[in-house]
Amino acid sequence: MTISLTEAGPGTQSDPGDVLGPVRAFVDTEIVPYAEEWDQAERLPPQILARIGELGLWAPFLPPSDGGSDMRWTTLGRVHEEIGRGCSSVRSFLTVHTMVTWTVHRWGSDAQRARWLPRLAAGELLGAFCLTEPDSGSDASASGTVAEPAASGWVINGEKKWMTAGQVAGLLLVFCRTGDGMSAFLVPADSPGVEITPIKGVMGTRASMLAGITLRDVRVGQDALIGPRGWAAGTVMTGALDLGRYSVACGSVGVVQACLDACVDYTSRRTVRDGPLSELQLIRRKISDMVVGSRAARLLCAEAGRLKDADDPATIMATWVAKYHASTAATAAASDAVQIHGANGFSADHPAARLYRDAKVAEIIEGSTELQQLTIATEAYREVAR
Ligand SMILES: Cc1cc2nc3c(=O)[nH]c(=O)nc-3n(C[C@H](O)[C@H](O)[C@H](O)COP(=O)(O)OP(=O)(O)OC[C@H]3O[C@@H](n4cnc5c(N)ncnc54)[C@H](O)[C@@H]3O)c2cc1C
Repeated sequence: MTISLTEAGPGTQSDPGDVLGPVRAFVDTEIVPYAEEWDQAERLPPQILARIGELGLWAPFLPPSDGGSDMRWTTLGRVHEEIGRGCSSVRSFLTVHTMVTWTVHRWGSDAQRARWLPRLAAGELLGAFCLTEPDSGSDASASGTVAEPAASGWVINGEKKWMTAGQVAGLLLVFCRTGDGMSAFLVPADSPGVEITPIKGVMGTRASMLAGITLRDVRVGQDALIGPRGWAAGTVMTGALDLGRYSVACGSVGVVQACLDACVDYTSRRTVRDGPLSELQLIRRKISDMVVGSRAARLLCAEAGRLKDADDPATIMATWVAKYHASTAATAAASDAVQIHGANGFSADHPAARLYRDAKVAEIIEGSTELQQLTIATEAYREVAR
């Protein structure tokens, strides 16, 4: 069940129901009932990844010529919200796949687009975004992976960590130093010298199939480099992270919605002192916070999406704001959801515990809460100085 209170918003009114209706049904019947099982198993079954391909959700933002359906960013945001409502691990797969696919579409050569996009759009090949390293996260400039020119291309050496979908991805977007700055390379995951090590036992998005990726003398051709060498930092990295941030923001709205749905259902059935929990004013306060949190975050995401659709650079800051609000609203809602469920909030029989663990991840990835606070405040001072 989804609470209809939260349907309003500029991104929804013009969205074709023929997109979101089937996605909602897919989430309700094929994701929500299995999300706990996948979380426990720490993996997504191949069938669910195949179903996402059948529904055309891997890269609908691409033009039809590249295997997509020209989906607007506002609509895509609602799709990622719906998937996030069902399972943040599935949404995580969509996030990184979108980042890689968009990169090839936006900055790839004709040959790179022709080679990779059809399979990426169909989900035959999954993408992994490989920026973080054991010793560099928020500060990507500390990255130590190096690509050196070789006779017929490049040789890459380094170690990447925390790659979402890394256990099953077929195409790695790897950020490397090339002496003159950062460069981005498309590296097939089965290249000799690529070693993939699953990361198990993480706190949240446990089914996102994280991996560490070591690259030892990995040889790639000239055609693996995206754009000119040394220019990826302000272009590919910034652009892809902006999309990832948008996806995580929208997915976080879905987490707040899932908390709201679960809590309204639970408090209507659970009784204390001869009455349902739903009659208690302190419970109602938490419910109203979830309603307001989800609606405000959805509106901020819709605004960021609208600016993306208009190709307006203001979307970058709007996306920071949306992600900051949505991810912190999700952790607050999920914390309240556990509280409302009492001991059952600790149990795998109810979604609250998973939502709580998953929500926290969104405050760390694609720009941590602290980096968002710094960036948003810096922009505020910049605007005043203009
Ligand atoms: C589940 C999961 C999935 C992930 N998937 C991917 C992926 O697919 N691809 C990928 O490349 N990476 C991925 N990551 C890594 C993620 O991008 C990094 O964790 C993130 O960038 C933060 O880096 P860090 O963990 O090294 O933290 P650090 O950079 O070490 O930061 C530690 C703490 O210090 C704070 N901090 C840092 N700088 C400042 C500052 N200037 N001022 C104030 N506070 C600051 C941070 O906010 C944080 O709280 C994933 C991580 C997780 C947990």
